Amino acid sequence: MGKIEIDPFYCKACELCIPVCPNGVIVPGDVANEKGYFTVKPDPDKTCVACRQCAIMCPEGAISVYRD
Ligand code: SF4
Ligand code: SF4
Repeated sequence: MGKIEIDPFYCKACELCIPVCPNGVIVPGDVANEKGYFTVKPDPDKTCVACRQCAIMCPEGAISVYRD
């Protein structure tokens, strides 16, 4: 299994990472960062498999993927 962290400083809320996740882990956010973007967030009820597809897709390098 895995875990992701999304850096709110770099996320621009483009949401390109949402459809590439096979498990629907990433969902739209409801908190704005300092630039006014509602940054995406992981859904704690979904299972990350550490496939890294989201991190590869993210144009800002905002997603870190960890295995546990
Ligand atoms: S690493 Fe894979 S499973 Fe985990 S959030 Fe990213 S795309 Fe989804
Ligand atoms: S692809 Fe990157 S910048 Fe775009 S919403 Fe996802 S984490 Fe944020």
